[in-house]
Amino acid sequence: MEKSPISLHKKLFYHPDRLSSFLKTGSTTPITWELDPTNNCNHDCIGCYAKGAGGRSNNEFLRLEEAKDYVDQIHDLGAKAVNLTGGGDPMMNRATPEIVSYIKSKGMDIGMVTNGSLFNDKNSEIILENCTWVRISLDSGSPKVFSEIRRRPEKEFWIIIDKIGKLAALKRKIESDCTIGVGFLTSKQTIPDMVEFTKLMRSSFIDYVEFRPFHGDYTIPYNIDDCLKMQTETFKVHYNTFKYNGSYKKKYCKCHGQNFSGIINVHKVYVCCHFRGVEKYELGDLRESSLEEIWNSDRRKNIVDNIDFNDCIALCKLDLVNRSLSELEGEPSHVNFI
Ligand code: SF4
Ligand code: SF4
Repeated sequence: MEKSPISLHKKLFYHPDRLSSFLKTGSTTPITWELDPTNNCNHDCIGCYAKGAGGRSNNEFLRLEEAKDYVDQIHDLGAKAVNLTGGGDPMMNRATPEIVSYIKSKGMDIGMVTNGSLFNDKNSEIILENCTWVRISLDSGSPKVFSEIRRRPEKEFWIIIDKIGKLAALKRKIESDCTIGVGFLTSKQTIPDMVEFTKLMRSSFIDYVEFRPFHGDYTIPYNIDDCLKMQTETFKVHYNTFKYNGSYKKKYCKCHGQNFSGIINVHKVYVCCHFRGVEKYELGDLRESSLEEIWNSDRRKNIVDNIDFNDCIALCKLDLVNRSLSELEGEPSHVNFI
């Protein structure tokens, strides 16, 4: 059964050393790093932000030795977890299963976001044995919508559904603790598929499905209650209404969240996951400087101090973290009275 999820900002309580260092100095090193093993992908999703930001189009990938070097540097900077994502699709890099095993050998947790099209018996077992969680992005519950959104042939929808079912079956067979989720970005185009998608996923015996709005389309799904009703003890439906507040504006002045969560897109380090491939927010290149040098550089400080919120997504990944941390700024009064 899926363990209870908690909000990103509440996870900070589990890392008092980082919080303490942040409170003392205004900076710390990431607890989690996103690492993109490649910018290549075999899908062509409408609105793929990695592609839109120029990240995916260069088709770069990490060689195993480069990935190991970056994982070592991530570990030495004190990270607790690595999330393999994109960029492109992590599984487009053949070295990814070995990268997964290597991250685990360093004692760090691993998560993976993938389109699920490249799972096979061999790599599935490595992933299930080593990852804490895997999230497959599908965004559809029918071959037609799948094909419209992902710009792949309709028949591939059923191939991926089959792979998801096999992954979940293998998880039970080898008694893996890996949490398997499938993501669905809601939009006017995809909302009609939500109920069928939820039914299909429940019968695939995965742990959860997650609905989030496609960036820029905050249409409230009219059928969300029918999806929520399909939850069982072992199958959860995640849906947060606050993510659908299209008129939300950030009230804090600084992005402190980026201190706790780093992003390496193949060789380059960026301020946050939303700015992959955006030169203005590129902190450095690991082929030229070490991760520690980049993290402690004046360039990073300057970029972080000058983040323009007009460039940012309103409800970005670290928004809740930023809201919490902004309350700790300055010298709050009466902190000893709880
Ligand atoms: S699967 Fe992910 S990386 Fe690939 S095209 Fe779709 S959104 Fe982009
Ligand atoms: S999008 Fe969010 S996480 Fe990224 S820089 Fe802006 S506020 Fe920070």
